Amino acid sequence: MMRSVTGFLCRVVCLMILFTGWAVAQSAAPSDEDVHRRAQELLGKMTIDEKVGQLNQVSGVQSPNDLKPDEAIQKSQVGSVLWVFDVKEINRQQHLAVEKTRLHIPLLVGYDVIHGYRTAFPVPLAMASSWDPSVEEQAQRVAREDSRAAGINWVFTPMVDIVRDARWGRIAESAGEDPYLGAAMARAQVLGLQGKAIGPDTVLASVKHFCCYGASEGGRDLDSSNIPEVLLRNVYLVPFHAAEQAGAGTFMSAYMDLNDVPASGNSWLLSEVLRKEWGFKGFVVSDWAAVGDLVTHGYARDSEDAAYKALTAGQNMDMDSHIYTQSLPKLVAAGKITQAQLDAAVLPILEAKIRLGLFEHPYVDESKVDAVLDRPSTRELARKLAGRSMVLLRNEGHTLPLSANVKKLAVIGPLGDSPDDLKGTWTVEFLNSTMPKTHTVTIVEGLRNKLGAGAQIETVAGPDLPRQVIEQFVSDPSSKTPKHDLTATEIKEWLDKAVAAANRSDVVIAAMGEAVNMNSRATFDLQGIQEQMLEAVAATGKPVVLVLVGTRPSDIHWANEHVPAILEAWCPGSEGGNAIADVLFGDVNPGGKLPLSWPLSAGQEPLYYNHNLTSDPEDRPGFTSRYWDLSSKPLYPFGYGLSYSTFTFNNLRLDRKNIKAGETAEVQVDVTNTSKIAGDAVAQLYIHQRAGSASRPVRQLEGFERVTLQPGETKTLKFPLGKEELNFWSPQSKAWGVEPGVFDVWAGGDSTASLHTELLVSE
Ligand code: BGC
Repeated sequence: MMRSVTGFLCRVVCLMILFTGWAVAQSAAPSDEDVHRRAQELLGKMTIDEKVGQLNQVSGVQSPNDLKPDEAIQKSQVGSVLWVFDVKEINRQQHLAVEKTRLHIPLLVGYDVIHGYRTAFPVPLAMASSWDPSVEEQAQRVAREDSRAAGINWVFTPMVDIVRDARWGRIAESAGEDPYLGAAMARAQVLGLQGKAIGPDTVLASVKHFCCYGASEGGRDLDSSNIPEVLLRNVYLVPFHAAEQAGAGTFMSAYMDLNDVPASGNSWLLSEVLRKEWGFKGFVVSDWAAVGDLVTHGYARDSEDAAYKALTAGQNMDMDSHIYTQSLPKLVAAGKITQAQLDAAVLPILEAKIRLGLFEHPYVDESKVDAVLDRPSTRELARKLAGRSMVLLRNEGHTLPLSANVKKLAVIGPLGDSPDDLKGTWTVEFLNSTMPKTHTVTIVEGLRNKLGAGAQIETVAGPDLPRQVIEQFVSDPSSKTPKHDLTATEIKEWLDKAVAAANRSDVVIAAMGEAVNMNSRATFDLQGIQEQMLEAVAATGKPVVLVLVGTRPSDIHWANEHVPAILEAWCPGSEGGNAIADVLFGDVNPGGKLPLSWPLSAGQEPLYYNHNLTSDPEDRPGFTSRYWDLSSKPLYPFGYGLSYSTFTFNNLRLDRKNIKAGETAEVQVDVTNTSKIAGDAVAQLYIHQRAGSASRPVRQLEGFERVTLQPGETKTLKFPLGKEELNFWSPQSKAWGVEPGVFDVWAGGDSTASLHTELLVSE
């Protein structure tokens, strides 16, 4: 009773705080003209050094040779700080900027709030698996409120890199392989973070990594990306453009070479495409030290050349390499960079500060932070969104959902009781080892919560997983270094324990996958002795449910033949264990779908469904395989995922079979829940242009909708097929356009959908 009264009061206080913020935002929102005029006026008063200061971002993670932040802030040499975590410290630095400098310009305070602040939501790859953009929007709206309350007014989110190669280490921060789904998730994130307009109750979003960090060769982190313009336009730039159109205030340039020109000094990208073609009015920050790295790349001669190349390419702010501070005043004095170029770089930064209301309200109320960050509603939401993000990959013989009568469980594997791995990569806590850890519900805890005190849950974790240790982030790296070289006897002991526990149970939950924060990997095998443990417990004959945790697909081709149920939970966040238990016991009916093509093994990467036809298509009679030793098809296709319900797709029809280029036809399809339980289907629409000025992908997603259907219910879903969906950037005309011809249209539950019709587009 006491707890529910406290919870109620806490909600009331939070609502009051948020309402006050909202009211301030409504009354204070200035017009674009006002913002511009105020920024110009301020700019007119600034010296060259003060202007250069605005372009300099300083890290809270200091190394001995770095600028001392206090001194630099008071000398007006800092426009923004990043990685300053503590709200008191943020306020203290803001006081220096506002009170101890000539022009009283507040700081932008930036941080990687990727999937929630104190309470973690599922990682972005998981949220994309929901195929429900409102999942990202809701999560980022809360992240915005939490960040702003904690003094962070700028988040380095969303990461909208398309990832066609799951070996790439940061795939978890992405929405997967598809530009259409990626664009939808990008828009939703910007909307969640910035609302309809940047203001005193929002944060600035930063769309990254422009462009195309996720396409580094071989999936090796930071390697060069070589992408022809046709692919850039039709695939990689698509979600970036969507985020820009949604109003994203800032972009972050990528680390690597893009077609031999480092992205952070690439004027085609930062000026031609982003500003001239798309009309972007915000500002670009480099990735960490990427301006300095123009020298490392062998692109700039020295620091001064790096500053020159970055600024003239369209790079406004230098993240922590301090190259601008040293070199820009000299370059301006020498007339190599004009006052006008410098002003153009500074202006959008001042505008952003004005829009955020920082001049009026530079400080946050330290006493209110916890009330916002610990809102019970955030945990409830995290649990709900995690449930919506999980993908049921296999469910032979209706192994799932488990009966409420199951009382004896064996939880086998290293991820059953491992909070950090569930919470996920790039959490606020992980980045800041001084922050007290908040509670993450593990799988074992979630099962206990679900089954109550009477349940018997036995765990055999096995040896810990190999972990990538990033020394900067852990106080004692040796404490996290696992033992790699188990003896045969040690392995046998673990396997015997696992088998004994399985034999004592009604059902085995194998909690396996990958440790969090692994970077790029060359293999997808279940590391350590996980595969041996899985095979050993499966051999007992007990029903086994493999719950996969991690940030990329694992090699589970054996499990796909021998383990009756497989659930991909990704890194589900702070409430992960409860959400997994909800799905396993049927309180939540899984409806997530894969945002990537799930490989048989890493050797197939890069692997993506929207490839072009070749001269020897896979479905041609006599075709064997593109590799002689492995199929070129995925284990599970893009868009795939099961449910406890079953669905059929019927009656695919067009309101017109024939349209002119530029017109829009309407596609309709009927989706029916043919089972006895309510569930969510994701209707997916794919097209293929049969012939034209370029070879087009075998299929490309051009519409989707997640719908809830009651038992026996049918819904008719409608999708437009017009210019937006049918056009592409032709490498011959070097322009966007809809070309006349025949388009195949498919609708169904994944990218192999067979329900087909045709649309004829004439001149
Ligand atoms: C990462 C970015 C991140 C930045 C600031 C870089 O190393 O690549 O994604 O936003 O650091 O933390």
